[in-house]
Amino acid sequence: MSVFQHIEFDSHEHLAFCHDKETGLKAIIAIHNTNLGPSLGGCRMWPYASDDEALNDVLRLSKGMTYKAAMADLNQGGGKAVIIGDPRKIKTTELMRAMGRFVESLGGKYISAEDSGMSVADLKVMAEHSSHIAGIEAKFHVFGEQADGNPAPSTAYGVFVGLRSTVEFGLNRDLKGVKVAIQGLGHVGMRLAEHLYKAGAKLYVTDIFEENITKAVAEFAAIAVKPDEIYDVDADVFAPCAMGAIVNPATIKRLKVKVIAGAANNQLATEGCGQLLKDNHILYAPDYVINAGGIIDIYHQKIPSSHDAMRAHIERISTTLVEVYERAAELNLATNIVANQIAEERFNK
Ligand code: NAD
Repeated sequence: MSVFQHIEFDSHEHLAFCHDKETGLKAIIAIHNTNLGPSLGGCRMWPYASDDEALNDVLRLSKGMTYKAAMADLNQGGGKAVIIGDPRKIKTTELMRAMGRFVESLGGKYISAEDSGMSVADLKVMAEHSSHIAGIEAKFHVFGEQADGNPAPSTAYGVFVGLRSTVEFGLNRDLKGVKVAIQGLGHVGMRLAEHLYKAGAKLYVTDIFEENITKAVAEFAAIAVKPDEIYDVDADVFAPCAMGAIVNPATIKRLKVKVIAGAANNQLATEGCGQLLKDNHILYAPDYVINAGGIIDIYHQKIPSSHDAMRAHIERISTTLVEVYERAAELNLATNIVANQIAEERFNK
């Protein structure tokens, strides 16, 4: 396993390989960049097939967090942690405590939050041994409701305002009558559907769970589409809110939309797909810019803030996106490339 020569290494500041003999904990904490502030990122627990696979994942994810934080205007850098192992088989309270001690040992350069395979309860155990754990108590809610720590309402609202400004920029219209095809009606997608319905959009929806579709059809007058047919809908906007890599040469060929704006992480199968979208005159809202509402939420929970300040910060996603689109038009570049450029200017200055 090479580390400094690793293709994803990209000037990481700090990599910690953590091993606790007593509990069997094996973890890697990666801190990509702290120029803008301490690194923040989720701790993922996953049955990686090899140490190499875990290293690859943590390097890629922590770098992504630096870009996301910079574009979300946070005084925060990028980091991530991975625990190697199947959470259903090896997760114990003692293992979580050991992980908490490793996070603490970095002295606040890395702040840990929830990710796949981890729960708020696990983070609370980690917090017994570290003061650098985020997302375990919530004070603010994007609409002033009782905060429960779930960032999905903030993510969905950020995607909604971002989608609206993307439609204004790309199609020169508001959302009334705009046709949006939503892939995935989970925590984020269902809330996005509600915002869009209230704004007068016409919805086409899909999910692999029938009950989610039934709800959207009943409550938001949506038209149900089979999972594989969502790419073919004659809509204006495609909103991916399920899984990654769904924007690829095969789906781009099928898409009839003029805008892609959704919550899913890593929507582009490769960076080159951004150029392919541009060539096909599809305006792409870079995923880590439009879906930053959740990280903005987590950030506000740990600073002196308010419901309104948090909501106003999430609303700035739309101005950031317009900055990306204007520069992309001026330089004749794909929007994903321009988003990377702007993020790099922000965290390298
Ligand atoms: P979720 O698991 O609650 O929802 C995903 C939904 O997609 C589920 O209803 C699932 O049934 C559906 N789905 C899965 N495969 C599908 C398929 N092939 N076709 C159609 N539907 C399918 O997840 P979420 O929290 O709503 O997040 C959605 C996406 O947004 C994910 O990619 C996530 O990484 C990303 N994201 C979420 C947040 C957040 O705050 N929750 C923040 C940033 C990014």
